Amino acid sequence: MTDNISVFDFLKKFPDEDTCEKYIIAARFPTGVSCPFCGNHRIYRLEAQKRFKCGTCRKQFTARTGSVLAESKVPLQKWLMTAWIMTSHPKGISSIQLAKTLGVTQKTAWFLAHRIREAFTQQGGLFTGTVEVDETYIGGKEKNKHASKKLKAGRGAVGKTAVVGIKQRNGKVKAVAVKDTTTSTIHAFILKNVHRGSTVCTDEHRSYLGLDGYEYKHLTINHSVGEYVKDMASTNGIESFWSLLKRGFMGVYHQMSPEHLNRYVNEFSFRHDVLKKSCFEVLNKVFYNTNGRRVTYKDLRLCPTK
Ligand SMILES: [Zn+2]
Repeated sequence: MTDNISVFDFLKKFPDEDTCEKYIIAARFPTGVSCPFCGNHRIYRLEAQKRFKCGTCRKQFTARTGSVLAESKVPLQKWLMTAWIMTSHPKGISSIQLAKTLGVTQKTAWFLAHRIREAFTQQGGLFTGTVEVDETYIGGKEKNKHASKKLKAGRGAVGKTAVVGIKQRNGKVKAVAVKDTTTSTIHAFILKNVHRGSTVCTDEHRSYLGLDGYEYKHLTINHSVGEYVKDMASTNGIESFWSLLKRGFMGVYHQMSPEHLNRYVNEFSFRHDVLKKSCFEVLNKVFYNTNGRRVTYKDLRLCPTK
């Protein structure tokens, strides 16, 4: 984020529920309020009830309907504050700390943060030009786990979840948790996200071999001989993203269950991608992205990979 507003600035901008409601409506519907049920723009405002009524299907709705805010009783000011805190803390915030800051239970804070994370999911086209691809492993150190949780295996990656990521040179990031880092998994991820004809920079891990066969220009670097930057072939960008993700993991979240890992990875990618935007541009984007999304507590507990 390019600017750093204070708590006082925040409360001045969002002093009450009415102001927050107006802000969220404007962010969600930049071209005017439309009906979340039928998409029509002929809408009436029922001011006393703080609701809208569709002139076509006659259904009523609020600023929350048809978004991740639906069915939530948490005041809109707390929603805005959560989004602001999550986007302005480079390493994120734990649900325990968030609960204390907002004056809500940890369960409420946890659910709130996960619904905001849903709105962090970035859309956008394929990566193109020069891109860096790399993989990393996220998870606790074996020696720090309780005896019952220890896995009796020697490989460094055991007990951790693999994450593969792409970074546009000087641009956006996309990363996802993957079941393994075999050639087929890595190649499928690259083919799905990187435009053919692009230049792909990787290290010499064997899973990257053969990318030239898909019309990519493949540049590799060899870390083991201290060869970190060879011509254009650097993966420094995606590696600094991994180090921020890991610092967040170690310092803030301590544990990211493999089921929820993608939500946390999204959070870090989103913050990375909006780094050059102002605070209110970012909040606008978050609340625009809440449109059409829905996450229930049950989704998070029972269908955690959703
Ligand atoms: Zn309607």
